[in-house]
Amino acid sequence: ESQDRVFNFAAGPANLPENVLKKAQSELYNWRGSGMSVMEMSHRGKEFSSIIQKAESDLRTLLNIPQEYSVLFLQGGATTQFAAIPLNLCKPDDKVDYLVTGSWGDKAFKEAQKYSKPKVIWSGKSEKYTKIPAFDALEQTPDAKYLHICANETIHGVEFKTYPTPKNGLLIADMSSNFCSKPVDVSKFGIIYAGAQKNVGPSGVTIVIIRKDLIGNAQEVTPVMLDYKIHDDNNSLYNTPPCYGIYMCGLVFEDLLEQGGLAGIEKKNKKKAELLYNAIDGSNGFYRCPVEKSVRSLMNVPFTLEKSELEAEFIKEAAKEKMVQLKGHRSVGGMRASIYNAMPLAGVEKLVAFMKDFQAKYA
Ligand code: PLP
Repeated sequence: ESQDRVFNFAAGPANLPENVLKKAQSELYNWRGSGMSVMEMSHRGKEFSSIIQKAESDLRTLLNIPQEYSVLFLQGGATTQFAAIPLNLCKPDDKVDYLVTGSWGDKAFKEAQKYSKPKVIWSGKSEKYTKIPAFDALEQTPDAKYLHICANETIHGVEFKTYPTPKNGLLIADMSSNFCSKPVDVSKFGIIYAGAQKNVGPSGVTIVIIRKDLIGNAQEVTPVMLDYKIHDDNNSLYNTPPCYGIYMCGLVFEDLLEQGGLAGIEKKNKKKAELLYNAIDGSNGFYRCPVEKSVRSLMNVPFTLEKSELEAEFIKEAAKEKMVQLKGHRSVGGMRASIYNAMPLAGVEKLVAFMKDFQAKYA
C-alpha cells in the first residue's frame, strides 16, 4: 500500500479533502483563464466577486440558511467573535448567559466580561468537562440578552446533540469544530460562528451567520473590524478579506454539495465516530474515553491509556505508520483523534487496527 500523505488527526488546522487540494493546485497559477492566481486578484474585481458570491450561496444551500440571516466572511478567528458578540449585542451593563461545557466556552465567557455582564449558568468544570446538563434544570437569567454555547468542545470532546431554547429565543453558538459536519436548523439561532480551519478551509477565515435584526446595535467603542453592520453593509468587503481562504472554503462547500449535502456527511461522520468509540469501549479498559456517552463528539475523540506511561510510545508508533497529531491537548493529556469531514473512513479504520495491535503488544 502506498500512502503519500499522512492521516492527520489534528484538532485544527486539519486535513482538507484531497480532491479540493488538487483542484486548488490546478487553479493556483492561473484561475480559470483569468491569467491570475486567486491570491493576486483584486477583492473588488469581477472574478473574486463571483468566488465569494458562489461560496456564500453554496453555504446557504448546504445549511439551508433562511433569507433573514446574513453570512459574513471575517478574520481574526473564532476568538475575535468572543468579543464581537457582546460588543454588537449588548450595552456594557446588559446581562448575558453562558453555558460552559469546556475550555472554549470558558474563554468566550471570560472575554464577554469586558463588554457585558455575563453569568455562567452551568459549568462542567468540576466534572472535568465530560457532560452537558439537562436543559430543564438550567436557571436562565430572566433578562439575559442571549444564551451562549459552544456546540462542540474541541478539547474535551463534548458535543450538543440537541439545543436549549433560551427564554428570549436568542441562542448563540460557537460551531468552530463541528461546522458543516451535520445539518443544523439555523433558524433556532441568533448567531452561529466558526473558524474555518477544522471542517471547511484554511485558518484566517471566520464565518458568522447572523439574524439580520441583530445587526446595527454595536457599542460605540466597537472597532470597525468587529462591527457586524460594517461588514454586512459591505458584503464582507469593507477591507481586504482573506481572499484565498474564502476561495478554499468555496471549494470545500462545492465538494460537500457534490457529496450530497450535510445529511450524508453526518452519516459518514457517525460511522467513523462509532468505529472509534466502539474500539475504545471494547478494549477492556486498555483505552478509555471519559466523556458521557450521550454527548460524545463526532469530531474530536479524546481518550487515555490505562497504562499512561505508554502514551508517548503510542503516539510515536502511530506516527511511524503515518497517523499524526494524536497527542491530546496539553490541558487534558492523553490522546485525541480529531476526525473531521475530510478524514476518510480508511484513516479511522487504520487507527482502530493500530490500536488493537498496540493493545495486543502491550496489554
Ligand atoms: N472555539 C472552538 C470550539 C475552537 O475549537 C477554537 C480553536 O481551536 C476556537 C474557538 C478558537 O478559534 P480561532 O483559533 O479560530 O480563534
